[in-house]
Amino acid sequence: MIKEATSADIIELENKYGAHNYHPLPVVLSKGEGVYVWDVEGKKYFDFLSAYSAVNQGHCHPRIIGALEQQARTLTLTSRAFYNDMLGKYEKYACDIFGFDKLLPMNSGAEAVETAVKIARKWGYEKKGIPTNKAKIIVCGQNFHGRTVTIVSFSSDPDARGNFGPYTEGFVEVPYNDLKSLKEVIEQDHENIAAFLVEPIQGEAGVFVPDEGYLAQARDICKEHNVLFIADEIQTGIARTGKLLATCGNCSCEGFCEKKPEIKPDMLILGKAISGGVYPISAVLANDEIMEVITPGTHGSTFGGNPIAAAVAMEALAVVKDEKLAENANRLGEIFRNELNEFIKTSDIVTLVRGKGLLNAIVINDTEDSSTAWDICLKLRDNGLLAKPTHGNIIRFAPPLVMNEEELYQCIEIIKNTLVEF
Ligand SMILES: *Cc1c(COP(=O)(O)O)cnc(C)c1O
Repeated sequence: MIKEATSADIIELENKYGAHNYHPLPVVLSKGEGVYVWDVEGKKYFDFLSAYSAVNQGHCHPRIIGALEQQARTLTLTSRAFYNDMLGKYEKYACDIFGFDKLLPMNSGAEAVETAVKIARKWGYEKKGIPTNKAKIIVCGQNFHGRTVTIVSFSSDPDARGNFGPYTEGFVEVPYNDLKSLKEVIEQDHENIAAFLVEPIQGEAGVFVPDEGYLAQARDICKEHNVLFIADEIQTGIARTGKLLATCGNCSCEGFCEKKPEIKPDMLILGKAISGGVYPISAVLANDEIMEVITPGTHGSTFGGNPIAAAVAMEALAVVKDEKLAENANRLGEIFRNELNEFIKTSDIVTLVRGKGLLNAIVINDTEDSSTAWDICLKLRDNGLLAKPTHGNIIRFAPPLVMNEEELYQCIEIIKNTLVEF
């Protein structure tokens, strides 16, 4: 009889044969359903990471899996050398929801960011009249936009950047949530600045929520100087922060959320939960005036816009609407922060809780290089809840948005009971 592999066996296997580009929490998962995942020993956990907010619709959502199965049996890939009967339908569906003229389909988030950078540069030369090779894109300090050479070229994280040079030129960094710096940089060099690329909430940096009005004012400064405002909503989008988008400025997302319009970016980058975590799908959306700089041969991807991706994305978006996930995230997020704020008053271990909707983080009262946050995550795991530290002493909490109130209260109990042990 063959012995079943234990968690320890599987971890050892990955350590031996896999490149060490991640440092996972030691837990080996083999099944997921809704807000739960199970490890190979059969222990059940609440998932409080949701694959970095890719699994907003919950694990293995039956409707999304159904769409995947059906399309997988029908037609999987044609490449864009030919038309397929799903892509146009999906493009229209997404454009109607997000309020843009056109969508450019890609696969991973980083690819979509690269795509937006390429479009912004080409728009800069062909529409704004920036002299050849002079285009600049403004980015924010502590940003996270992915892992390609160009993207890490404008990262401020030494691990992400170190020894990957020479770096791509043409990026200027300003501090996040700092309108004055943004205004100064744009005013100094507005003829050469094509775009401002920003995360509406900085997820990887530790869930930094900017001041009220920051995004809208940044958008206005950009508009004034003919600079494209690009929102990277790969992590914040698709109902995570209690609205369909964290920038929710499009009014065509009727039925998705109740929020009043705030701002609308010139380019919107989506990934992660646009597939419900079922398939690598990303997209850039923009209006014709911008998207028309892309012509045959200027950009592409073999898998981008394949029929499975189109079917999965449409169903994943429909689930967000039908199950009112934005509303749920908004309501549960309030409860979560209120409960943890009450707890903080009685505890020295957590200094603050912050976030929007169900994208939240707690800051642990210890130095950034301490192992306290990691140790807390190990204890949370033992107590049946999976979360991961980000940047040393910060723990992000981002459960699937299909969670109900009773489950959330159970999770809050687990978190409080774990924290009092420290
Ligand atoms: C995850 C993420 C990316 C990169 O997406 P990948 O699919 O991992 O390439 C880019 N931007 C933001 C804000 C993200 O959270």
